[in-house]
Amino acid sequence: MARFAVVGGGITGLTAAHTLAAAGADVVVHDAAPTAGGKIRTSPFGGIPIDEAADAFLIRTPEVLDLVAELGLDDQLVHPTGAGAAVWHEGLHRIPTGLVLGVPGDLRPLLRSGLISPRGVLRAGLDLVLPRSDLAGDSIGTYVRQRLGRQVHERLVDALVGSIYAADTDRFSLAEVPQLSALAHRHRSLLLAARATRRAAVSGGPRGAQEHERPIFAGLRDGTGVLVEALAASVTSSGGELRTGAAVGSVTASGGSLRVDGEPVDGVVLAAPARATAPLLAESAPAAAELLAHVHHVDVVMVCLRLPAADWPERLHGLSGYLVPKPHQRLVTAASFGSQKWAHWRPGDGSQVVRVSLGRDGLPVDHLDDDAAVTAAVDELGRHLDLAVRPIEVRVTRWAAAFPQYRPYHRAWVDAVRAALPAGVVAGGASFDGIGIPACVRQGRQLAESLLERARP
Ligand SMILES: Cc1cc2nc3c(=O)[nH]c(=O)nc-3n(C[C@H](O)[C@H](O)[C@H](O)COP(=O)(O)OP(=O)(O)OC[C@H]3O[C@@H](n4cnc5c(N)ncnc54)[C@H](O)[C@@H]3O)c2cc1C
Repeated sequence: MARFAVVGGGITGLTAAHTLAAAGADVVVHDAAPTAGGKIRTSPFGGIPIDEAADAFLIRTPEVLDLVAELGLDDQLVHPTGAGAAVWHEGLHRIPTGLVLGVPGDLRPLLRSGLISPRGVLRAGLDLVLPRSDLAGDSIGTYVRQRLGRQVHERLVDALVGSIYAADTDRFSLAEVPQLSALAHRHRSLLLAARATRRAAVSGGPRGAQEHERPIFAGLRDGTGVLVEALAASVTSSGGELRTGAAVGSVTASGGSLRVDGEPVDGVVLAAPARATAPLLAESAPAAAELLAHVHHVDVVMVCLRLPAADWPERLHGLSGYLVPKPHQRLVTAASFGSQKWAHWRPGDGSQVVRVSLGRDGLPVDHLDDDAAVTAAVDELGRHLDLAVRPIEVRVTRWAAAFPQYRPYHRAWVDAVRAALPAGVVAGGASFDGIGIPACVRQGRQLAESLLERARP
């Protein structure tokens, strides 16, 4: 029986291990942390399971839904309520519907929202007559500003994409955000590309269903943590081994044989963050180690607050949260009104769960202790919402080195790393081919399948 090691028990590594174990291989998952799951964790808050990081995953593609079904978790699937989000710009402005990752297909709703000034809307309209943009710079910020102007970039695209990836979109690869990249390639005009994409989405839906009725996100009733728990259980019940609190120190390759911390294996899945993986390869693949060491990972802090029902004003009902554009950011980048976004996040006493995100690329938070993070979250939330924020429960989760930053030409970096790995060693996860849960699940499957393929006689 082929024997494989998986380094990193996040969603990528666990999906790879689950796939390998289900195929009958002998698998050991090594994770440095006391529990597996990586950046996916759920814990009780207000008496109900509330996610400490990822709470939703895209279901436009089937990866996660297939895995959920395979693990027998179908009855856990839930969808957001449909409450809309806002952007804070000297007050809350509802984001108009029909945008494609912040890119409008129609300028009239933008004007009505008050978020973009008439001058900003006129500037965005220039996109219709501007010649095709050169995409060679591979920067989201440069491209979107060139097409639609500064206001649409700052207040919509950077606010939205920056909050998903904790990124500064001026330094983030356009090619690595598939929806934006598809728009950029679809048409000379970004507005017309967004309009066509939206029309296709509406007409391509199930018969009779309005686009807004079809959820594009899902979550799990007991939290996304159940996904990684079920994966870990599947690995061990198929005979695999899960070693936690077990940081791997080296992956060596000599004379065609691979070893993980001295133990011989037939193949290795590297699924830890890039920077953590670099030292493991210092001896066996120094060129890959050098490339991995240069990835920039951003720290974020998630402050979860529970606010009394009586303090939550009517005007915030039906709003899922808001984004803070870069020029207005102090430490808070976004707030998610969890109890408005999810029907299952409503504590019995009617209190409101609000998750406040601090930090992004260029906005460091590592100097904050927990008290300072809570103070910043409470003060900024209060100022943005014009509200006395008096939490009855608080939870702080620090996610160090959480978000790898895909700099322009990230794809060339990925190809160079993979080309420099020893035979039988494969690498993936959030640092490589997509940060969201679906992309990590897809990578986990592909990494496992490539090793199984190689091991076939
Ligand atoms: C705050 C936050 C909110 C998010 N929200 C969403 C969301 O709503 N939707 C969504 O789709 N995605 C979201 N994401 C992104 C997504 O959750 C992550 O990108 C994904 O979970 C990363 O999985 P991974 O397997 O690549 O790596 P990780 O989860 O980083 O796992 C890597 C593992 O490697 C281990 N490790 C490190 N070094 C070693 C070593 N030397 N030896 C052994 N093990 C090692 C670590 O302990 C860790 O468990 C969010 C992320 C964060 C931080």
